[in-house]
Amino acid sequence: VAVERQRCRRQVVAGPGVAEIGLGAVGDPLHRPAQPHGGDAWTASEPSLEGEYGSMCGIIGIIAAGPVTTRLIEGLRRLEYRGYDSAGIATLCDGRIEVRRASGKLDNLAARLAAAPAAGSIGIGHTRWATHGAPTEANAHPHATSRVAVVHNGIIDNFRELRAELVEQGCAFASQTDTEVIPRLIGRYLEFGLNPVDAVATALKRLEGTFAL
Ligand code: GLU
Repeated sequence: VAVERQRCRRQVVAGPGVAEIGLGAVGDPLHRPAQPHGGDAWTASEPSLEGEYGSMCGIIGIIAAGPVTTRLIEGLRRLEYRGYDSAGIATLCDGRIEVRRASGKLDNLAARLAAAPAAGSIGIGHTRWATHGAPTEANAHPHATSRVAVVHNGIIDNFRELRAELVEQGCAFASQTDTEVIPRLIGRYLEFGLNPVDAVATALKRLEGTFAL
């Protein structure tokens, strides 16, 4: 499911047995400096726009008949021109979510995958341009629970309130990003017994900001 809540460029590349959709922001004001928060002293630098496409992350999702990791990396390479500081993928493999992430260039992620391959014919990928949380591996996308993996472009304005609420309910967070509230929130709704579509829809209603997922 790709959700757009901003003006996005949609890229669709279709081939035999594969449908790929990449979403990313076009000339939007998403990457404004972040507010320091939660003991994380890191603050995003001012965006350095290099032409129209500087400083924007990239999102890709693939459902295929065969393994998707190579295609995900290839898709992310096509989005490299936007600029990014880290990258990651998640695949669905035998009902389990596999996540591989790396700070820096896609070659670092490719090296991770060479050392620890991720199988699966369904996957998502992301090149991150950090707004909240330093450009580390722990803050790279996808952010995932055992049941939900999310890649996110943009900013969740009300993530502090949502994070506080989820921590109060016993959720443990593994990153400093605004993004991580999304899979944790969807995960809570799944725990409450909602089906995946309703869990996502209910979580979306709680999110404020400008973003694509
Ligand atoms: N705000 C998110 C983060 O800092 C997403 C940034 C992006 O659009 O790449 O991880």
